[in-house]
Amino acid sequence: MDIRKNIEIVKYKVAESAEKAGKKPEEIRIVAVGKTFPAEILLEAKEGGLREFGENKVQELVEKMNALGKEVSWHMIGHLQKNKAKYIVGAVDLIHSLDSFDLALQIDKTAEKCGCIQDVLVQVNISGEETKFGLRPEDVLNFLKEVSMLERIRVRGLMTIGPNTDDKNLIRESFRRMHSLYIDMKDKKLDNINMDILSMGMSKDFEIAIQEGANMVRIGSAIFGNRMYR
Ligand SMILES: *Cc1c(COP(=O)(O)O)cnc(C)c1O
Repeated sequence: MDIRKNIEIVKYKVAESAEKAGKKPEEIRIVAVGKTFPAEILLEAKEGGLREFGENKVQELVEKMNALGKEVSWHMIGHLQKNKAKYIVGAVDLIHSLDSFDLALQIDKTAEKCGCIQDVLVQVNISGEETKFGLRPEDVLNFLKEVSMLERIRVRGLMTIGPNTDDKNLIRESFRRMHSLYIDMKDKKLDNINMDILSMGMSKDFEIAIQEGANMVRIGSAIFGNRMYR
C-alpha cells in the first residue's frame, strides 16, 4: 500500500471538488481515519503531510494519541459513550459525534474538571437510516439552543455520514439537505455556537460531499487501504 501516493490522489480529488464548489483546496480539511491500522502506518500518513487524525473507538484513539503525540490533531469520529468521555475530553481537538443532551452534560462536566473548553460537532442522521446515530434534522435547532447554555462546550458545526447506497443522486441529495441545514443553523447566530465546520464525506463519497459544501472530510480506506480487522 503506497500511502503517500494515495494521499496525493486524495488531495488532487479534494482540490478538484473544492474548485467545483468555488473553494480553495486548503479550505477543505482532511481527517485521516486510521482505525484498525497500527500507529506505524499512521506515521506514514503524517510523513506524507497529513496533520489531522480521526478514530472511532476511544481506546484506539487514546493509544494512537500516545504513540503519535501532539504534533498532529485528533478527532473522535465514532459514537461516544457517556462513561468514556473522560478519556478524551480536553485531549482531542474535535468530537464529531455529539448526539444527545446527556452526552453534552457529561462532556461539559468533564471539561470543567480539566479547565478546558471542548469543541464538538453535532451528529445528524440525515438519511434517517435506523442503524445510524445522530439527531433528526428537525431536532437540531432545539438541541443547539440547549447545548449553547453549556459553557464548556463549543459547537463548531455539524457532522453526518452519507446514506449507505451506491446511488450517487441519493448521496448528493442527502448532502445537499445537510448543507442547507448547516446554513440554516449558522444563520440563527445562536450564542456560544460558532458554526464553521461541516464534516461529511468518506472514501466513497467525499467528492460529492465537497461539491455540496463539506469543508471537512473523513477519509480512511482511500488513504490506508482496506481495513485490518482483528
Ligand atoms: C470509518 C469511518 C470513516 C472513514 O471511512 P472510509 O470509508 O474508510 O473512508 C469516516 N467517518 C466515520 C464516522 C467512520 O467511522
